[in-house]
Amino acid sequence: MGRLTRLREALSVAEGDPELVRSQLEAFGRQIPLLYFILVVNTTAVAITHIGCAPAWLSIYFPGVLSALCIIRCLRWWRVRHRVLTHDKAVPELRKLIWLTGLFAVAFSSWSLFLFPYGTAYEQAQVAFYMATTVVGCVFCLMHLRAAAFLLLSIAILSFSSFLVFTGSPVLVAMAVDMTLVGVALAFIIQLYYRTFADVVHAQRELQASQQKTQRLSDDNFRLASIDSLTDLPNRRSFFASLQALSEQALGTNGGFHVGLIDLDGFKQVNDIYGHASGDLVLQEVGLRLLALAEPNLFFARLGGDEFGVLVQNRPANPTLVELGERICKSLSQPYRVAGNVAELSGTIGWAAFPEAGTTVAQVFERADAALYAGKESRRGTPVIFSTEHETRIRRSSLVTQELRHADLEAELFLEFQPICDVLTQRTIGLEALGRWHNARLGAVKPEEFIRIAERTELILRVTEVLLRKALNEAARWPSELYLSFNLSSIDICTSARARRVIDIVAASGVPPHRVSFEITETAVTRDFEQARCSLTMIKKAGCRVSLDDFGTGYSSLSYVHRLPFDTIKVDRSFMTDVDSNGASRKIVKSVLDLCRNLGLECVVEGLETASQVEVVKALGARAMQGYLFSRPMRASAVAGYLQAAVEPGLAAAAQS
Ligand code: C2E
Ligand code: MG
Ligand code: MG
Repeated sequence: MGRLTRLREALSVAEGDPELVRSQLEAFGRQIPLLYFILVVNTTAVAITHIGCAPAWLSIYFPGVLSALCIIRCLRWWRVRHRVLTHDKAVPELRKLIWLTGLFAVAFSSWSLFLFPYGTAYEQAQVAFYMATTVVGCVFCLMHLRAAAFLLLSIAILSFSSFLVFTGSPVLVAMAVDMTLVGVALAFIIQLYYRTFADVVHAQRELQASQQKTQRLSDDNFRLASIDSLTDLPNRRSFFASLQALSEQALGTNGGFHVGLIDLDGFKQVNDIYGHASGDLVLQEVGLRLLALAEPNLFFARLGGDEFGVLVQNRPANPTLVELGERICKSLSQPYRVAGNVAELSGTIGWAAFPEAGTTVAQVFERADAALYAGKESRRGTPVIFSTEHETRIRRSSLVTQELRHADLEAELFLEFQPICDVLTQRTIGLEALGRWHNARLGAVKPEEFIRIAERTELILRVTEVLLRKALNEAARWPSELYLSFNLSSIDICTSARARRVIDIVAASGVPPHRVSFEITETAVTRDFEQARCSLTMIKKAGCRVSLDDFGTGYSSLSYVHRLPFDTIKVDRSFMTDVDSNGASRKIVKSVLDLCRNLGLECVVEGLETASQVEVVKALGARAMQGYLFSRPMRASAVAGYLQAAVEPGLAAAAQS
């Protein structure tokens, strides 16, 4: 940068740097009272000592007018000291200050030059001293306005030093030299100070910018952390934060609210059949449908997977809540268009009221979950409000959990066996092992109940291990043509290591693997389709057979049968109740039997209780059957006797029909 450019820059206003201009004005504003104080006090002192020896216009009127101007400027500053100028106004203001400094410098310097010849050497020395101290004082006050400080220095020092040199007096010439040197030194100090000042302003600006950026980033992160990226609904964390806030507010105001948990029925099937991308589209559509229902007192969120949450402020009456739930369910059960197909899903909602159903966030959430669970079991696609019945269930469930946790499973668990018969040969072909639990405190606990609880707590791993060993132990004693059918839970096959454990137990038992068939329900398979396929394939490779149990109860899809290595399909017993009177049930059973024939699979029809049911199912082409008509599940000790009977009692009844 050339010297001239640098000089021009030093004497001008930094127009392109709004922060610097603003900081200059601010810093100078703080010095104004001191600046005028120095000027007025010094001027008054010199004027007073010159009264009598100098003319009145120089010792009274002129300094009087200058001091008055100083006081006026000072008062004006006081009036506008809090104003904030825009950059457009700040630049002219700064320029005005520089010009004003120049004018004041000319006025005060001229006054002292005119005054200098009057009085004795003392008075003259006082004027020189006045010039020196006032200039130094004012220059320090003007540090932040570099241009103004330079202007003041040049006018005062140049005019006064030249004047002193012209007097020819060696003392005064020495004084002039001294003054000039001090002036140059001051100019350096000003330049150094000003640079530091400008650097600090720039550093502050960068700090502010980086703070703003950090703030923006943290705002973005907060948004991302509280929004579900797939559906754009608030996420689980946000849901629980709102739940917490609502509960605190409700406790403080004696108010209340409702928590709703929504679970999609049939979502897993969409994922499995059409793929994850389609599953994502369904979830996005669910998000849009829920948002379309949102009102100021309704808060929807995605809690994860196919589970959504809803908070309803102001605790509406039950009929209103049911009506709202039905509206949500109706909206969710409209068909979804995915990948050129139409998928049918529904949503079930469990509601719980705060504080009636639970007085803590965890409790009310658990109650809503209990209502949802009850809904999923018996009333899919509808809203269910938490009731005392659910309460009893929760209590029972925690009691059973406790007992199961501490039970001596080896001693308390045992099996019953139910034969599977071939109605054509009239022989038993295998036996299904059914788990039983007798507990000293609870008595006999139904398998549906303890198996569900064992699954939830993962105690099922231990339960399966004990039962499978016992079942294989019995099967080893049966005639070698009979197979053992054993029920596995989804937890038993949810990792390859667990599937391997099951295989190892069979291998250790000595029972040939081809004599063992593992039953798995469709709902178990749908939990994690890919892992289920992997585990079942491992089991198949180990030589065991695999059956799809309770076919027709869930969201049965033929794609499972195709894509999983099943040997057998077991038609659920619910179709048998009216198979002899209801054409629709008959058609379903017939199509499953046809499907099995076409795919080369074995088909076992479950739950046959009457001879007429057997007759109908037999006519439809079924051979393998299971049900109370043939035999109820029996103790292990009864199996041998049952098998030894020359004509098996159940088969005799069926044969007579
Ligand atoms: P499942 O595997 O479908 O077992 C058949 C169920 O139907 C058995 O009920 C059996 O007693 C019952 N049943 C058989 N024939 C008839 C009939 O003609 N009419 C009627 N109404 N019912 C009949 P159970 O023993 O109560 O077992 C219920 C469910 O519990 C089983 O259904 C199975 O899913 C599960 N389970 C039973 N034992 C075990 C086990 O050891 N492990 C696992 N993971 N689940 C088991
Ligand atoms: Mg079964
Ligand atoms: Mg079954």
